[in-house]
Amino acid sequence: MLGSVVVGIGIAGCVRMRDLLAPLPSSTAEKFSIRGFVSRRTLEDQQGVKQISMTEALSRDDIHAAFICTENTNHEEYIRQFLEAGKHVCVEYPMTLSYTSAVDLWNLAQQKGLVLHEEHIELFTPDFKQLKKDIAGKTLEEGTLHFRGGSLKPNFGFPSFSGIARLTWLVDLFGELTVTAASLVEEKENKYMKMTAHLLTRQQKPLTWIEERGPGLGRAKHIHLRFQDASITELPAGQREPVGLFMQDLVLFGRKLQGEVSAAELQEERSRILHCLQLADRIQQLSENTQA
Ligand code: NAD
Repeated sequence: MLGSVVVGIGIAGCVRMRDLLAPLPSSTAEKFSIRGFVSRRTLEDQQGVKQISMTEALSRDDIHAAFICTENTNHEEYIRQFLEAGKHVCVEYPMTLSYTSAVDLWNLAQQKGLVLHEEHIELFTPDFKQLKKDIAGKTLEEGTLHFRGGSLKPNFGFPSFSGIARLTWLVDLFGELTVTAASLVEEKENKYMKMTAHLLTRQQKPLTWIEERGPGLGRAKHIHLRFQDASITELPAGQREPVGLFMQDLVLFGRKLQGEVSAAELQEERSRILHCLQLADRIQQLSENTQA
C-alpha cells in the first residue's frame, strides 16, 4: 500500500480525501491508503482522517505520496519539500507559477527516482473528450476560447497560470503554440480582470484565449472554432461518465506509480505541461509589459 497524505483542505483537498477513502474498485486507486492530512489551520478530524504535522508527513516511513491541494503560490515549496523527503507527489494544477521552477522540480523528481504528477482533470471532462473527437481530422483556420468565472481567489497567481486548464485544452487540441501578444485589464476595486492572449499554431493559424473574472460572472466557457469546412460555436455535451474527474486522475497517478504508463506517454505529457507553463510565463511577461 502507498501511504498518502493530503496537504491543504479546501475544495480539492476534501475531494482527494473522499476519493482516497472510497477508491474506484479494482483500480490503481486502491493502492493508496490515507494516513493523515496537513493543514496550516488546526482542524478536527476530516472525514474520519486525522491531522498530522508537516514534519510528521515528511519523516514518516509509512507515507510514500503527498497530494498538494493548497493555493497555487505555495505548490512549489511543498513539492520541493516532499520530493527532498523521498515522497512521490501529485499536485493540483498549476504545478508552479513559473516555467523554470517546474523544470527544476521535474529534474529533482527524476534524480530521486520519484513520480511528480500534475493533475489535469479538464482533460477528462466529457465536453472536452467529445470536442476532441468532433474536431479530429479538421483543419483549423482560427479560434477563440473565452472563459468567464467568479473573481480569482488570492494566491492563485497570474491568470495565465490559474487558468492553465484552458491553455492545456488549446495545446492538447492544436499542438504547440506561440504567443504573439497578451494584455491584462484589471479593475482591482471591482475585483474584475480580463486577460487576452493571442496565440499562433504551428500552421500560423490564430487562436485567442480570454480569461475574464469578476463578481457574479457565471462560470462558463465559450468557444468559436472555424475550420476549413465547418465551425463549432458551442461546446458539445459529452456523455457523462460514472467515474469522477478527480478519481480518474487518482487512477492515472496510481498507474504511474505502478509503472503502467509508458516512458513515451510520460515524456509526451511532461512536454505538454512544460510547454503550457512556458506559454503562461510568456503571457504574463507580455501582459505586464503592456500594463507598465
Ligand atoms: P480552496 O480555496 O478551496 O483551497 C485552497 C487552500 O485554502 C487550501 O490549502 C485550503 O486548506 C485553504 N483553505 C480553504 N478554506 C480555508 C479557510 N476557511 N481558512 C484557511 N484556509 C483555507 O481552493 P481549491 O479549489 O481547493 O484549489 C486548490 C488547488 O486545486 C489549486 O491549485 C487549484 O488550482 C486546484 N484545482 C482545483 C479544482 C477545483 O475544482 N476546486 C480543480 C482543479 C484544480
